[in-house]
Amino acid sequence: MASIEDPQTVAPVEQEWSLGYSMVSGSVPLARIHARRTLTLWRWGGDVEDAVLILSELVANAVRHASKPDALVGVRLALEDRTLLIDVSDPMPAFPGFGSIVAPSPDQASGRGICLARALGARVGWFLNADGSSKTVRAELLAPDGAAMQCTHWRRVPLDLSREAREKSAATYVDRAVQCQLFAHSEGEHFGLLADSGAYGTALWLRWHGTDEARLVVLPDCPVAAQGPDGEGCCLFADHTEQHTWEDSLEEISCTS
Ligand SMILES: [Zn+2]
Ligand SMILES: [Zn+2]
Repeated sequence: MASIEDPQTVAPVEQEWSLGYSMVSGSVPLARIHARRTLTLWRWGGDVEDAVLILSELVANAVRHASKPDALVGVRLALEDRTLLIDVSDPMPAFPGFGSIVAPSPDQASGRGICLARALGARVGWFLNADGSSKTVRAELLAPDGAAMQCTHWRRVPLDLSREAREKSAATYVDRAVQCQLFAHSEGEHFGLLADSGAYGTALWLRWHGTDEARLVVLPDCPVAAQGPDGEGCCLFADHTEQHTWEDSLEEISCTS
């Protein structure tokens, strides 16, 4: 049996979010948006994009293979210490072929999501729900020890600076509050991204220190990119002091076909 554990015996949940979605393909991107926002709010130290991708695959599987009229696909995210549980429930009380999923194959489309989740380091299993007529597929994703956490400082964007940012950039909308984009730091100034500026290779940032007045600054983009064929660029500005933004997300996805 591939079940991970009885849901009744797990440790107390520290954070929890859940929602039911219609079993239509449009629910997949919607669940993705909700999950990304939730995980960002929780400041989970793991890779949010990996988690969102796994969730997205599991929801897509449920919609594709377990759809029933009027039924919902249930999505639940829960945080237990550093472990993120991604639960996706559907109204089919079985998972045919789960034990034989070792690699994705064209005739076993439902295996792709499971395989991808495993390739991203998740533990995957499933269990029957208490109602006996539905199941939950669960992926567990652990945030790495010492995972880089984003600075938790937020700042409201003063109205005049928000207007100035819109004028100096092509942006039609600037967030009312921004989070510092640096990795957690105990001293120095905070930098929240407002918008790309009109000029190539620069961006508009909100810079503040403690409770001092915030300023609008135009900064050149960080020119450093990751090694390797993808060469993902850093999303911060030139000469920033903390690590580059791509440094916490270096992993290979080997489970593609
Ligand atoms: Zn900061
Ligand atoms: Zn950088």
